[in-house]
Amino acid sequence: MAPSRGFKGSLAERFERKTMPEPNSGCLLWLGAVRSHGYGKIKDGGKLENATHVALRLAGRAIPPGADVLHRCDNPYCVNAEHLFIGNAKSNVADMMAKGRHNFSGLPLGYGARWR
Ligand SMILES: [Zn+2]
Repeated sequence: MAPSRGFKGSLAERFERKTMPEPNSGCLLWLGAVRSHGYGKIKDGGKLENATHVALRLAGRAIPPGADVLHRCDNPYCVNAEHLFIGNAKSNVADMMAKGRHNFSGLPLGYGARWR
């Protein structure tokens, strides 16, 4: 199937136009729209998608329903498929807790106090 994406170019083209390689870390930084908690968004046929999910899809990796895309490099702006892995919300929280990032919900840092 070859969906017509109209004059704005294919999803892959639009995706690439919104990214910038970061030579030190090897990260691919997302320059497009970002949600309040720092994750990039891109429109795919009228549907707003996580840039990280699109990055993996474009790399040919399927994301199971309900799964989250997590960062090996710990950089929420990174959309390099090599730096991403598929997990779920639970492992996401566990991962962040393990790294000491307690403000995963986007709440002010002080909210971390309730886990002490
Ligand atoms: Zn990265």
